[in-house]
Amino acid sequence: MLLFGGTFDPVHIGHLNMANQCLNHFNSEQLFFMPNRVPAHKQASNISNADKLAMLRLAIASEPRFKIDERELHREGPSYSLLSLQELREELDSAGSHQEPILFLMGLDSFNSFDSWYQWQQITSLCHLVVYQRPQERLDLSATLAQYLSQHQCQQGAALNNQRSGLVYFLPGPQLAVSSSEVRAKLQRQQPCEELLTPPVYQYIRDKRLYIG
Ligand code: ATP
Repeated sequence: MLLFGGTFDPVHIGHLNMANQCLNHFNSEQLFFMPNRVPAHKQASNISNADKLAMLRLAIASEPRFKIDERELHREGPSYSLLSLQELREELDSAGSHQEPILFLMGLDSFNSFDSWYQWQQITSLCHLVVYQRPQERLDLSATLAQYLSQHQCQQGAALNNQRSGLVYFLPGPQLAVSSSEVRAKLQRQQPCEELLTPPVYQYIRDKRLYIG
């Protein structure tokens, strides 16, 4: 199963690009976006979860293989990925899919700080990490994480199907220089940013006058 966790505040073309690359690379039938409620690593924004979810729904509407897993929006407290992954693993196991790996997609900036995530080593016992390059981001790891990578990196995406968890794979693909913070800043300053969003998401932001301070 392909899983893409994020704040999506708002969802932008960089998110959709990496999700598409992931879906196609692994030739999967579906990829789940998993928006978080209270970002464990970030300051919460003043945009409601309902708006973030509505924008995500609009952004993925044209790709039927994209789905949304809403569990973190409904769970109280910080959205620790570990808790979601534990639940998902149990759900796969009880559906008889014991061997099905979970591939957790993230950008390189997230991977660089991955050892600050809540119980990160337990996370790696539940899923593989699929890391997508990000413009201006270089691999910059703590000694602990660098050691983890040296022992767990795999060069072939196909190898991720041979075990349930514990590998790190750098997914190739075109990089897009866009971030939610750039979109938010541009909207606030009333600068053009239409090209960074899908048309329905841009229209939703305009209609609801989101992010303009
Ligand atoms: P912000 O600018 O508010 O930090 P963001 O653009 O990083 O937001 P998130 O929703 O926090 O968006 O990102 C979810 C995941 O997608 C993270 O792992 C992040 O690294 C990754 N990501 C987001 N945009 C890109 C991009 N343009 N290229 C590669 N990875 C990205």
